[in-house]
Amino acid sequence: MRDRIQEALKHSKADYTEIRIEEKETTRVVFRGKELEVANANIDKGGIVRCLIRDKGWGVATFNNLDDLLNKADQAYQCAQVGSVPEPIELASVEPVENITTVEMKRDFRDISLAEKKALAERYNQVLLGHSDKIIDTQAAYADSFTHLILANSEGTYIEQEKPSVVIGAFAIARDGNNVQQAHESLSSTQGFEYVLDKDELARKAAQKAVELLDAEPVKAGQYPVVVDQTLAGVFIHEAFGHLSEADFVYENPKAREMMTMGRRFGKGLLNVYDDGSIPNLRGTTLYDDEGTPARRNWLIRDGELVGRLHSRQTAAKMGEKASGNARAVNYRFAPIVRMTNTAIDNGTTSFENMVKDIELGIYACDAYGGETLLENFSFSSGYAYMIRNGKIAEMVKDVILAGNLFTTLENIDAIGNDFKWLNTGGGCGKGNQYPLPVGMGAPHIRIQNVVIGGE
Ligand SMILES: [Zn+2]
Repeated sequence: MRDRIQEALKHSKADYTEIRIEEKETTRVVFRGKELEVANANIDKGGIVRCLIRDKGWGVATFNNLDDLLNKADQAYQCAQVGSVPEPIELASVEPVENITTVEMKRDFRDISLAEKKALAERYNQVLLGHSDKIIDTQAAYADSFTHLILANSEGTYIEQEKPSVVIGAFAIARDGNNVQQAHESLSSTQGFEYVLDKDELARKAAQKAVELLDAEPVKAGQYPVVVDQTLAGVFIHEAFGHLSEADFVYENPKAREMMTMGRRFGKGLLNVYDDGSIPNLRGTTLYDDEGTPARRNWLIRDGELVGRLHSRQTAAKMGEKASGNARAVNYRFAPIVRMTNTAIDNGTTSFENMVKDIELGIYACDAYGGETLLENFSFSSGYAYMIRNGKIAEMVKDVILAGNLFTTLENIDAIGNDFKWLNTGGGCGKGNQYPLPVGMGAPHIRIQNVVIGGE
């Protein structure tokens, strides 16, 4: 294979040529209610040639048959030739690298039978169903994937990487009359089958939360000091801030460019935010990105000051900065674009107790049901929440939606917890039509003053 790739790269007349070949084995089992909804195993194999002619643009050809690489290189070249660009495209320089890595799993999920995976999902589904007679619908899912990736380019880079992923998810819907509530929990890792065993507790937690929410009152709308848990804080920094740090977006959007001026200060200098694809075993971990740039820690906010952003080689050259290792593609059908890896708010110094104890009336918002962002404006629904009364966590409330302006919200962060946690949840990030890209998120508890909470 390697020889054929080198031959095609040599054959290409483009200024820069890159070939990425991917083989992905996946299995997936889903129980819904009492029924087995999905049980399948799949192998997907294919590749992409990407060519750059500097003063014309990019050309791309994808394929499933690896036998006609030379033709595909020609096809990509022809696509590039019919393009036109306002100014020549440059790529930030990256040291060519040769690296072949393999991973080892304690219990390789490729050696586990589909029957055993089905039994595991079924067991978690039983935990969900058996929790209470108020549970009216469930979903318990098991999924794994093992990806072997080859990336080579005309500058001499040749990389082979392996990426395992295993995920379990538990989703419960509880009902009492007209009152219907839901909750979910998930767990994922780049480790083996052992990681998702004995996780009855996760399913129990999802079922219990859905049932508890039946008794929760809707929150009263208003402005509150809010303590946000690690999950919601992680999702917030990814969605509301991280996407604005992606340089393709910043470059193409003058308003975003203005908002994200280096040196801009946020609040009291407490906040530190980074993106880092080099941390082992996280969902967004990738030793090299899909252009062969090694992963590294990229600080985005340091001591409250905007200090960096995320790049592909092209956006880095455009903005006179360094490639950051953030050019990623969801699979071989797509060219890489600027994406996050593992994005986090760094640990702080305040204990959870101290964060809560000064709050007379506030909200403790946990978990996230996604949300929406539009430039600097965001709204997020928390999965569940509690009132804080006289410095103590009080009753559960529901329908807590946090809305506001990103920059005002960052200014209003006045305490950062000392209890940092990576969220090993499943799911993934979407951008353009590339979804779901595995990404990691992490944060400690944070406290934000004057948050606008929607509700009744
Ligand atoms: Zn995202």
